[in-house]
Amino acid sequence: MSDLPHRDLHAVALETIDAAAELLGLEPWLAATLRRPERAVTVEIPYLAADGTVRSVRGYRVQHSTARGPAKGGIRFHPDVTIEEVTGLATLMSIKTALLDLPLGGGKGGVTVDPRGMTDAEVEAITRGYARAIAGVIGPDVDVPAPDVNTGTRHMDWIADEYGHLVGSPTPAVVTGKSLAAGGSLGRDTATAAGCRTVTLRAAKQLGLAADARVAIQGFGNAGAHLARMLAADGLRVVAVSDSRGGVHRPDGLDLAAVAEAKRVHGSVTAFPDADVVTNEELLAVDCEILVPAALEGAIAEREATKVRARLVAEAANGPCTPEADLVLAERDVVVLPDVLASAGGVTVSCFEWQQNRDGSTWSEARVAAELDRRMQGAFDALWDYAAAQRLPLRLAAVALGVQRVAEATRQRHAAPTAAPLAS
Ligand code: NAD
Repeated sequence: MSDLPHRDLHAVALETIDAAAELLGLEPWLAATLRRPERAVTVEIPYLAADGTVRSVRGYRVQHSTARGPAKGGIRFHPDVTIEEVTGLATLMSIKTALLDLPLGGGKGGVTVDPRGMTDAEVEAITRGYARAIAGVIGPDVDVPAPDVNTGTRHMDWIADEYGHLVGSPTPAVVTGKSLAAGGSLGRDTATAAGCRTVTLRAAKQLGLAADARVAIQGFGNAGAHLARMLAADGLRVVAVSDSRGGVHRPDGLDLAAVAEAKRVHGSVTAFPDADVVTNEELLAVDCEILVPAALEGAIAEREATKVRARLVAEAANGPCTPEADLVLAERDVVVLPDVLASAGGVTVSCFEWQQNRDGSTWSEARVAAELDRRMQGAFDALWDYAAAQRLPLRLAAVALGVQRVAEATRQRHAAPTAAPLAS
């Protein structure tokens, strides 16, 4: 089961809003509004357990902002889920969708449950129960959930099915991340990697890196393995990759198909014979131009940051660099492409899925890839220019740009409060 981040994500979100509000000089009422979600719903989900008893778990759905469009964000199943964490994550989603300039807001959901060891029937009962409980506050024009930690395609298919029955007509646009048969989008599997590829290439060009620059990637899962393949096809040299058991390093470039095959057969990239085996810590310090943490939150802390030799760090994972590491990397003139941009390919293709479901169209894989590339390029260019103009590091610039867009939409929506109270 995926581990949840250890940071207090609600506190992180509030610090993020506060930092942006100060930088942007937001009106106090607006800053206060953005610190709180528009709507937070807590639900109780009774279900029939495999032993014949009825049990109950707690679920949440939080809509931080719908000022720019329907709330968007995943649903996680994890024993540590709390409403505070879900609220923090919903806030960060508002910033992410705004940075990508998607016509969406920010939301998040969760169920406090440990799905390990549960039967499929129990997981389905909880998911359908959750869908019924939140059906009144979600919908294609209101709030569109997606997968997150420990949820995936089948959970989304169940929610879409349940919701369709409740409203009396099939409504695939109520969730994204569905199976293709149930209205999912082509290109969703590779979306995070493809989005990261676009912004990494763009940043490499801005920094004047060579066309065959060397890349090291920590994490060889959905994000990391696809990204390695894509960057190699672009002509970059992927010199090191790793998974939870360790990594492999070959200074003149790895044969990625053979590495993937070694992982498939033996369970780890370390089984690939034609390279040096390295630890995950050594991988972060490999001599290369581009380093991509694509595994864990907090992978690069202060100590690791002092050893990074890359010129560019592209955060494919969520929160891989700690705030302390950020400071060290900035001092050492290492440019960090922040997760809010570098990992945003997934939510962008989620947006495309929602759009396809709404107008009943099916985009080809090539169209999804082209639109994703266009979106990510636009977001990168806007961020790069803004950061340069404001003389800000990319992470702070990304947050400021995202919050500025949410604030602007919120301000427009509420207009200026009347100067004087109405006469009684
Ligand atoms: P995944 O589970 O498919 O892959 C994770 C990889 O990290 C695996 O290769 C695993 O072996 C490796 N790993 C685990 N522990 C490790 C350790 N201690 N050191 C080095 N490697 C380790 O996950 P994923 O979908 O590729 O996601 C990776 C990161 O990207 C996560 O932070 C996730 O939140 C983020 N992300 C993913 C998506 C997506 O659509 N898949 C979208 C946005 C962000």
